[in-house]
Amino acid sequence: MSDDCIFCRIARGEIPSRKIYEDDLVFAFHDINPIAPVHFLVIPKVHVASMAELEDEHEAALGRAMVVAGKIAREQGATDGFRTIVNTGRVGRQEVYHLHIHVLGGPEILPAML
Ligand code: C5P
Repeated sequence: MSDDCIFCRIARGEIPSRKIYEDDLVFAFHDINPIAPVHFLVIPKVHVASMAELEDEHEAALGRAMVVAGKIAREQGATDGFRTIVNTGRVGRQEVYHLHIHVLGGPEILPAML
């Protein structure tokens, strides 16, 4: 974990968040600025700045994050599908440099991206 990373601090409970789920490897919370009826983030507890920095040692945490994302999506009401986004780096418009999976869903079909 990193002392000054905002998502590390959220995972440690030092900064409040609307927590949904936590285990030994991952932490999930509602996005503070949702852009869909269901919009939450799943992060590995280990500090990894972005997908571009992933190493083999992160496989377990990232695998857990994907499983948790799907389970929570269904529990949050995204029962007819959802979108996952991982913004990476400047070109990917990443704002917070602690890898996170956005999960977006809702009753209506999401706008097309591309
Ligand atoms: O662009 P990026 O994928 O880095 O997005 C960061 C996300 O983190 C934004 O959707 C923002 O609303 C969210 N966020 C949050 N809680 C914070 C700070 C940022 O949910 N305290």
